[in-house]
Amino acid sequence: ILEVNQLTKSYQSGQKKLTVLSDINFALESGKSLSIVGPSGSGKTTLLGLCAGLDVIDEGSVTINGQDLSLLSEDQKAQIRNENVGFVFQNFQLIPTLTALENIMIPLELLGDNGAIQKSMELLDQVGLSNRKNHYPTQLSGGEQQRIALARAFSNSPKILFADEPTGNLDEETGEKIEKLLFDLNREKGTALVLVTHDIELAHKTDHLLRLKGGKVLESNMLSKTLA
Ligand code: ATP
Repeated sequence: ILEVNQLTKSYQSGQKKLTVLSDINFALESGKSLSIVGPSGSGKTTLLGLCAGLDVIDEGSVTINGQDLSLLSEDQKAQIRNENVGFVFQNFQLIPTLTALENIMIPLELLGDNGAIQKSMELLDQVGLSNRKNHYPTQLSGGEQQRIALARAFSNSPKILFADEPTGNLDEETGEKIEKLLFDLNREKGTALVLVTHDIELAHKTDHLLRLKGGKVLESNMLSKTLA
C-alpha cells in the first residue's frame, strides 16, 4: 500500500539548507502496522507528512496504492488523499467553527457522500461521543478532540491511516481507548496503520518499527521493495 524509495527532504533555513530526511526506504503492505520512533527533531512528523502527500517531495518517491505522489499535481494528490488516506494530526487540527459532527463529515462531503450525516453519527457512536455531536472543539477535552480527530480520519474508510502521536498527551485510560480503536480498525477493516509515537509499548504492538535519528534510518525491521 505504501512504498518509500530514496526519500530525501530539506528545508531552507536562511542561507542554509537543512537536510531533515535522507535516503529513507521502506515498504508497507496492506493491513500491516508500522511505528516510526526516534528522538525529537529526527524527522518523524516530516516523514509522515510526506508519506500522506501533505508535503512536497524533494527527491525520491512515495507511492500510495500504486500511485507515485512525486509525479502528481497538488489536485491529483488531494484526490488520492481523499480516497485512500486518513490523517490524525499531532494537535488534532479540528475546524474550530464546526461542531464535532460537522468535523467528522468533512471527508465524506469531499467525496460527495449522500449519507454523510448518518455515517458520521455512527462514527461518533463508535468513538463513544454521540452526546457531544453539537459541541465545538473548544468545548471538548483533549481526549475527546483526539477521538473526534480519529473518527474524522477514518470516516472515508481509508486504506491507510497516518497518526502523529495518537496517544500523546492523553491519560492512560483514554490512550488505551484510542489504541483499541486504531488496532480494531487495522484488524477488522485491514486499514494499514502508520504511527509516530514516543510510546515504546505502543510501538512494540505494531508489526514493524522504523527508528529515525538525524533524518536517517537507524534501525528497521522492514525492507524496501528494492532491497527485498
Ligand atoms: P518531534 O518528536 O519533536 O515531534 P520529529 O521527529 O517529528 O520531532 P520533525 O517535526 O519532522 O521532527 O522535524 C525535523 C526537523 O525539521 C526539525 O529540526 C525541525 O526543526 C525541522 N523542520 C520541520 N518542519 C520545518 C519547516 N517547515 N521549515 C523548516 N524546518 C522544519
